[in-house]
Amino acid sequence: MSANILDGKKISAEIRTSIKEEAEKLKARGINPTLAVVLVGEDPASKVYVGQKEKGCEETGIISRKYTLPAEAAQEELLTLVEKLNEDKEVHGILVQFPLPEHISETAVLTAMKPEKDVDGFHALNVGRLFSGLPCFEPCTPKGVITMIERTGIDIEGKKAVIIGRSNIVGKPVAAMLLARNATVTITHSKTRNLPEVVRQADIVVAAIGKPRFVTADMIKEGAVVIDVGINRLPEGLVGDVDYEAVMQKASWITPVPGGVGPMTIAMLLQNTLKAAIINKGA
Ligand code: NAD
Repeated sequence: MSANILDGKKISAEIRTSIKEEAEKLKARGINPTLAVVLVGEDPASKVYVGQKEKGCEETGIISRKYTLPAEAAQEELLTLVEKLNEDKEVHGILVQFPLPEHISETAVLTAMKPEKDVDGFHALNVGRLFSGLPCFEPCTPKGVITMIERTGIDIEGKKAVIIGRSNIVGKPVAAMLLARNATVTITHSKTRNLPEVVRQADIVVAAIGKPRFVTADMIKEGAVVIDVGINRLPEGLVGDVDYEAVMQKASWITPVPGGVGPMTIAMLLQNTLKAAIINKGA
């Protein structure tokens, strides 16, 4: 058997087309969806991510406003900018690209942000609302993961889902979102014992570890859905956390890297920005 491929480029392109239509409708009502993107310092990966987000906005008719601060900018300076954007009626969503330089507290920056403009869904209020099953901004990568699982057409309810990785940005929110859809969820991590045995029971596997080809075919149950969040830069190029070629022979559905979860993340950010524009119109 060879798995069906969940093509993140194709799915995200379809989503971007509908975002563009929605953005046009909002504009016709006098609302110009606007995302403020803040970049601090010169981290090359962060610059690439910010560039992708700006391009996504441009393609879908969302206005992006870029703010750059030098790596040595004081925390106060960034907090003042966030507060200014909080009060700016023309800005609907705010995204501060992480990681920040070490002398700036990411928690302080998130806390300063208006939760209703937090399109990344990292503010503690949005996290709490997500785990409580209340309306919130769902974080973009986990939202992309769920969208892909839903695209397979499988019924998530009652399925065994095993998530590898317990980060605040991927593993934990994916768990909350699968739980909300009535999956039986296990979160595994670096201290988990007998990890392959646990993963082998899963109908749905989400790998968010950051270790190239960590998930091997012997860990996968025949017919499982495998979502690979990992992005590992190797000399031969980008690879995921899943041994793609081998796991492909056992899974029913699989996401490639690149071209899987990555493009979905941007599409979900644009979706959240539209939602913010509706929530914050004239706010
Ligand atoms: P992280 O480093 O914060 O967390 C990694 C997790 O993996 C930890 O919870 C850790 O316990 C677990 N882990 C480490 N070694 C393990 C082991 N031997 N066995 C089991 N678990 C182990 O990483 P993160 O921020 O969640 O990112 C994970 C990966 O996803 C990275 O490759 C990152 O680049 C990628 N990522 C991709 C996107 C995207 O848009 N596609 C977004 C965010 C992160």
